[in-house]
Amino acid sequence: MKLSRMHLKTLREVPNEAEIPSHILLLRSGMIRKLVSGVYGFMPLGWRSVRKIEDIIRQEMDQAGGQEIHMSAIQPSELWEESGRWFAYGPELWRLKDRNGREFCLGPTHEEIFTDIVRSDVSSYRQLPLNLYQIQTKYRDEARPRFGLMRSREFIMKDAYSFDKDMDGLDRSYDEMYEAYEKIFTRCGLEFRPVEADTGAIGGSNSHEFTAISDVGESEIAYCEKCHMAATVERAGCVDAQPQGEVSQLPMEEVNTPGTKTIEDVAAFLGVDKTQTIKALLFVTYDNNGEENGYVAAFVRGDRELNMTKLVNALNIPEHAIEFADEDKMSAATGCVGGFTGPTRLHDCTIVVDSELLGLKNMCAGACKEDYHIKNVNYGRDYKGDIVTDIKILAEGDACPVCGAPVKHNRGIEVGQVFKLGTKYSESMGALYKDENMQDKPIVMGCYGIGVTRTLAAVVEQHHDENGIIWPMAIAPYHVIITVMKPDDQVQSEVADSIYNQLIAAGAEVMLDDRKERPGVKFKDADLLGIPIRITVGRGAADGLLEYKMRRDADKEEVSVEDGIARAIKTINEER
Ligand code: ATP
Ligand code: MG
Repeated sequence: MKLSRMHLKTLREVPNEAEIPSHILLLRSGMIRKLVSGVYGFMPLGWRSVRKIEDIIRQEMDQAGGQEIHMSAIQPSELWEESGRWFAYGPELWRLKDRNGREFCLGPTHEEIFTDIVRSDVSSYRQLPLNLYQIQTKYRDEARPRFGLMRSREFIMKDAYSFDKDMDGLDRSYDEMYEAYEKIFTRCGLEFRPVEADTGAIGGSNSHEFTAISDVGESEIAYCEKCHMAATVERAGCVDAQPQGEVSQLPMEEVNTPGTKTIEDVAAFLGVDKTQTIKALLFVTYDNNGEENGYVAAFVRGDRELNMTKLVNALNIPEHAIEFADEDKMSAATGCVGGFTGPTRLHDCTIVVDSELLGLKNMCAGACKEDYHIKNVNYGRDYKGDIVTDIKILAEGDACPVCGAPVKHNRGIEVGQVFKLGTKYSESMGALYKDENMQDKPIVMGCYGIGVTRTLAAVVEQHHDENGIIWPMAIAPYHVIITVMKPDDQVQSEVADSIYNQLIAAGAEVMLDDRKERPGVKFKDADLLGIPIRITVGRGAADGLLEYKMRRDADKEEVSVEDGIARAIKTINEER
C-alpha cells in the first residue's frame, strides 16, 4: 500500500482521555477511533492487526477441533431467564426492547445461545464431544469503561463452548483449549501467565485466566516462585494464622478510645499490634428487584484486607447485589456505629467471619458505641458468625497456600479465560443426551473466551517505546515500510518502487511512504506505526544501496538492494 493513497491520520499530541501507552499509541497511530466512551472503531492499520489476531485464533481453534459458527449478537431475554442470569448479570447486561415490548439483550457472552443450539440439535452420546466457537462483537455496559480497547463497552471476543458426555471428557476438552490458548498468545508475541481464577458470573467449578504481564493491567495475580502456585488475588486461598491454643480467655473489657475510627488509630492508642484487632466492613444487599433486603457485617483480622469476591461467593449473591452500607442507616437497624463496629453487639444482619478469627484469642474490636472498643473478644464465647469462611486477600509476602513460601504479586491484563462449567447450563436449560443405555444425562460443558481487541492492546502495552509501537511480525499491520527520502527524485522513486514490487511478489506485506513530506515526519510516523522492518531509500539508491533497520533495534545498516530484500524476506518468514 502506498501511503500517498492510504487513509491514515496520525496525531502528534497525546489525546486527553488516554492514560496508558496502548491507548495513547493506538489513538496516535490512527489505528483506532473513539466514537463515545468505551466504543471504538478500527481504521485500516488497526483492523489489519485485529484480523491477524483473529486468524491466529482460528488456526489454533480449528487445529484443536473447534468449528466456527456465527450467532446473532442480539439475544431474547427468555433464554437468560431460563439460565437465571437475566437478574444475576446485573446492570452490565445491555438490555433493549423491540417495538412490541419484548425484551432482549446485546450478548456479553453466549452460554445460553450455544446451550440452546445444542439442546435442540444433540440427542445422543454419538454426537459428543463437540466444540463450537465464534468470533464476534460483544456488549457489556461496563461501570467504568477505560484504557481504550482494554475495558470497552463494545469489543470483539472469541468465545468457544465444549460439550462432553462426562467430566473426563470435559477435562480433555479443557486441556485442549488451555494448550490452544498457550499457542495463540505465544504466537501473538505476549509474555503471559496462566493463573487459577474465580468463576464469577459465568459459574462452574474450575477456571484459569491467561494474564499478559503488565503494570497497567487490572488483574492482580499472586504467585509463588518456589512451587509455581499462581492465581488471581480474588481466587487465591489463604493460610490462616496459627490458632493460639493455650492462651486463656480474659474477661471482656470496654475501653474508651476517643476518635480512633481506623484500625491504625485504635492499635496505636491501645499499644497493640494490628493483628490483635478485628476489622469490620459493612454492606447492604439488594434483591432481584433492586430493593434493599438486608445488611451484612464482615470481620477480618485488623491487618488483613477483605476479599470482595470471596465475600459474594460466601453469600451466594451476584457482585452487583451488594455495596457498602450507609452506616447511619444501618446503625438504626443493626446497632453498628461507623468506625466503632464490632461483632459482639450487632443484631439483625448477616455476620460473616473470616475463618482465621476463630483461633485468635483476646482480640480488640469495636464496641458498637461511639469512642469505645472492647478488649479480649473471643470467638464462640462473645460472638458467632452466620458464615465462617476465608474472606481475606492473599497479600504480597503472605504464606503460599500450597508450600508456605512468601508469595509475590504481579499485575496483568486478562486476555483470556477458560472455565469448566460442568452441568450448570445444561441442567437449568435442559440440554440432555441419551447415553449408551438410553438414559437421559445432562451434557457437560466448558466455555473459553479470548478478548481479541483487548489482546491487541495488551500486545502494544508489552511492545512499545517512547517513539511508538513495535509490532511483533505475526500481527503487524504490514511487515515492511519503505521510506523514500525524496519522492521527487526519479532514481529514488524507481528504486523504491522496484523494492516494493519485489517484496510484494515474494509474499511480503509492504507500505511505501511516497508522501511529499519531510524525511523527519516520515521517520516519526514509521516509528509510531511500529512496522517491524524499515527500508530507507535515499542518496545511496543511485549506487544500488538502501538503509535497513529493524524497528526494535537502534542500529541501521547500509546494504545492497538485493541483500536488503533477501534479508527482509528471511526475517518475515522466520517471524510471521
Ligand atoms: P474482566 O474481569 O476484565 O471484566 P471478564 O472476566 O468479565 O473480564 P470474560 O467473561 O472472561 O471477561 O470474557 C472473556 C474475555 O473477554 C476476557 O478474558 C477479556 O479478554 C475480554 N473482555 C471482557 N470484558 C472486556 C471489555 N470490557 N473490553 C474488552 N475486552 C473484554
Ligand atoms: Mg474473565
